[in-house]
Amino acid sequence: MWKCKHCSKSIEDEFDACWSCGYSKEGIPPDKSINSESAENRAELAREKNKSNAKGTLQVQMVSIVDASIPFWSMVFFMIKWALASIPAILILLFTFSVIGALFGGLFRALF
Ligand SMILES: [Zn+2]
Repeated sequence: MWKCKHCSKSIEDEFDACWSCGYSKEGIPPDKSINSESAENRAELAREKNKSNAKGTLQVQMVSIVDASIPFWSMVFFMIKWALASIPAILILLFTFSVIGALFGGLFRALF
């Protein structure tokens, strides 16, 4: 049996941490005993969550891309993909504008 340094409860020897307050046998608080970095991250996340919950709004973060480092061939394939994807996009635009053109052309001819 060992006694918790924090809440002075009696703990069985097979337990490394206090069942009541979570403090370790050495008297280290539950959060700090795991990993200070991950504990900090968790605290940060909890704070963010509380902030957004309190306001009832979504947190929006602005990101501005300054530079992108893409390997040459990766960029080549990306551009080829882009060029191929533009074909159906152009067809859709062509169809849309021809429909608009036909409608306005017909309207124009009917009026004058
Ligand atoms: Zn305790």
